[in-house]
Amino acid sequence: MKVLYAAAEVDSLAKVGGLADVAAALPRRLAQMGHDVRVIMPCHASAMVAFEASLERRELQAELPGGLTRSFEVATVAGPGGVPVELVYERHFFGREAVYGEPDDLERYQFFCRAVLAVLKAGPWLPDVLHLNDWHTAPLAFALRNLAWANPMLRGVASVLTIHNLRYRGPDELNDYLAQGIYYCDALTTVSPTYAREILTRDYGEGLEALLTLRADSLHGILNGLDYDTYNPRIDPALAANFDLSTLESRPANRRGLLAEIGLPQSEGPLLAMITRLAEQKGIELVIQALPEMLAADARLVVLGQGDRWLREELSRLQARHPDHIRLLDRFDEPMARRIYSGADLFLMPSRYEPCGLGQLIAMRYGAVPLGRRTGGLSDTILDIDEHPDLGTGFLFDEYSAFALTGAFERSVRAFRQPEVWARLQQNGMSRDYSWSASATHYVEAYVAALRSRGIVPLE
Ligand code: ADP
Repeated sequence: MKVLYAAAEVDSLAKVGGLADVAAALPRRLAQMGHDVRVIMPCHASAMVAFEASLERRELQAELPGGLTRSFEVATVAGPGGVPVELVYERHFFGREAVYGEPDDLERYQFFCRAVLAVLKAGPWLPDVLHLNDWHTAPLAFALRNLAWANPMLRGVASVLTIHNLRYRGPDELNDYLAQGIYYCDALTTVSPTYAREILTRDYGEGLEALLTLRADSLHGILNGLDYDTYNPRIDPALAANFDLSTLESRPANRRGLLAEIGLPQSEGPLLAMITRLAEQKGIELVIQALPEMLAADARLVVLGQGDRWLREELSRLQARHPDHIRLLDRFDEPMARRIYSGADLFLMPSRYEPCGLGQLIAMRYGAVPLGRRTGGLSDTILDIDEHPDLGTGFLFDEYSAFALTGAFERSVRAFRQPEVWARLQQNGMSRDYSWSASATHYVEAYVAALRSRGIVPLE
């Protein structure tokens, strides 16, 4: 099958968050499975070197409303795993450091959509499926439907839209681009089975639950996978000591190294960690409220994250009050993140909502035991040890409250004090397979469903 994957960010060329990881790993996996996959993204400043070095550059014209056109350049470069990536460059809109958050984001991403259409029309390579991601590219679902009337070539292209986070809908108060894409796409996916069900409800639907319910038959919940090649504690160069399932006894060296590196005293109590955007979504306020109980259990807490000012200030204040127990690392630091995953005992994700969540997957892969709220992807990937005594990988709580979090924390402390129970939790988590293999197969099923819904029988 031929797939064009359109995304605002793709890891190794530009990265802000989880979308970049998915946009790198899924196309690579699909290509390994034998599909003919290309990626298309705006050429941000971080991709300029690759753009300049490309020998395959061409100039195209994007059609603007009112019969106007504007020229732009496309360079084909080798992306993750050798998958071809089309970098769309237009001097006024792209080549900037910021991927998002610019005052003209709306114009930038609308132009990007028009450029994608120009690339499709220019051919000669035409996909069976155009895979869209979030609001930035969602308008293309309507465009495909609309243009297909006049352009028979485009009639054979089906659109699939993936919602990575329903909250982000674009900066235009008068137009919800994501909603428009949800309505017009041929198949809709989101990043975990539980989140796919949750967004049909008022509590999680962000006002779009009625529209989403209309598309419920075309909605697929597909877990994000983890790139098991890049996240591998056996060979990860960022770690003080490498380890795997058969050498778990080497792991404590990472814990000791981490405590020394962040200036916390060595201790017997559990080392808790969060690596996250400091955002309301992530439930950091619950951890702050539950802190007295955590400190009473002689726990230490390290938080690596950037984001909302009030959370940063609150955590800094707590660090000043408990300098031997709390560390806030206010920066984006990937090697540090890996050392924390490999040294922490318990990884906290008490999210209010969590479409999929990668943190808990990385934590399990690196032998840190996750404790999360039973929502979205956390609910699909963490097996509570009390519900699954043999296969349990962590701890879940239901109600969004510090009380419920504390209950799960106290269960985790009891388990932590029984080394054989703790080792089982770690081993179970490390043994699970959350790589892309299974998820990519489900995406192919969604592609097939999208083509069938247009009356096209895919060759696969
Ligand atoms: P979200 O996409 O909602 O931010 P996820 O759990 O899906 O949350 O993904 C977050 C990813 O970003 C994880 O890989 C996490 O390790 C990483 N991350 C978050 N904050 C930082 C930081 N300050 N430094 C390094 N990595 C971070």
